[in-house]
Amino acid sequence: MSQSVRQLSAVDGDRAGRPSRAEVEAAYRTVIRWIGEDPNRDGLKETPARVVRALDEFFSGYRQDPVDILQKTFEEIEGYDEMIVLRGVRFESHCEHHMAPIMGQAWVAYVPNGRVVGISKLARIVDVYAKRMQIQEKLTAQIANTIDEVLKPQGVGVIVKASHHCMTTRGIHKHGTDLVTSRMLGCFRDNPITRQEFLKMIE
Ligand SMILES: [Zn+2]
Repeated sequence: MSQSVRQLSAVDGDRAGRPSRAEVEAAYRTVIRWIGEDPNRDGLKETPARVVRALDEFFSGYRQDPVDILQKTFEEIEGYDEMIVLRGVRFESHCEHHMAPIMGQAWVAYVPNGRVVGISKLARIVDVYAKRMQIQEKLTAQIANTIDEVLKPQGVGVIVKASHHCMTTRGIHKHGTDLVTSRMLGCFRDNPITRQEFLKMIE
């Protein structure tokens, strides 16, 4: 395991000094007052607790170890050494600059080197990293790097397309735009034919 993946897991997963649920709910009552609302009116009384429960779900990725998820592999693959592609994995994430939603899809591919992982695990890797505070570039790299470090395949390709609510619902309000990021490692980086084969699958 390289330092980079371990360090990312450790830094992202550090829960020391975590405030209590009651403290976070109190912070949201402050936010509601700052907006100009009354946190004690009927419709808003339960809102801080609901928001905190939603945050639990939005950021559940901090409680999961992506390396663990990829640990169980299958080696009886009859010499299969062609590309494996999981296409269009939908995800929801939140940008680390505004905590605004990022809605997107990921294409995750690798060429195995003697062992493969269950396909649902690839989708879970996308989710573990999506359910953290993110920038799309980092999300893309983390997915690819983790697969590369744990499975040690011949290569990994990850493409992410996403729309960022911090750009569509605020700021410059550009609807219908999406950002495309990619990370190619091993044969996806070195072999133009492999890369082309992958790129064709996302069209
Ligand atoms: Zn943002």
